[in-house]
Amino acid sequence: MSKHQNSSAINSRLPVQIDPIRLAAARQQLYGEIKISRFERLSELLTSSEGVVKVQFDFDVDIGNVHSGKVHCVTGSLVAELSLCCQRCLQPMKWSLNTKVALAFVEHEHQIDELVVGYEPYLIESTPLMLNDMIEDEILLALPQVPMHDESVCKPAVKVNRSAEQVEVQDNTSQATAKRKNPFAVLADIKPDSKE
Ligand SMILES: [Zn+2]
Repeated sequence: MSKHQNSSAINSRLPVQIDPIRLAAARQQLYGEIKISRFERLSELLTSSEGVVKVQFDFDVDIGNVHSGKVHCVTGSLVAELSLCCQRCLQPMKWSLNTKVALAFVEHEHQIDELVVGYEPYLIESTPLMLNDMIEDEILLALPQVPMHDESVCKPAVKVNRSAEQVEVQDNTSQATAKRKNPFAVLADIKPDSKE
């Protein structure tokens, strides 16, 4: 990995669309940055879309697959500082994304069963595929299901005062009952007239 840390090797212009099989066959490397705001599905989950995702992808052909002989794959990493929403206090929460990617590209579902250990299958539905979509899928999978600050640094957003809550509920109930009675009372007044 350290050989990729050299900033001169980073191509900041990532292609919009890729043919992953072709990239793998050519053993292509893609390095660069994508603005977090470009990921719509991800941005909906964040308190801020500032910043970038650092992408490092090495496409390759792995010949170690016993079943089909070779696997077109990509390995690499996705790194970003994300602002998630803490599910306890509902305040922004910095979270470091640093996820390893190891995908094997498959063109048919039956190939999924044939993969060697160590890759997640990525079904190519159409070519070329949007690089953004592929990256976003991987980021969404890496997010914590319920992001929360450490318990010592945050408090629940709503303090529940149980006795006050109960009183309020009772009030609402009696009000609702009173309201429900009204229409019938009105009907009762009308009925005798309408029968005649
Ligand atoms: Zn919190």
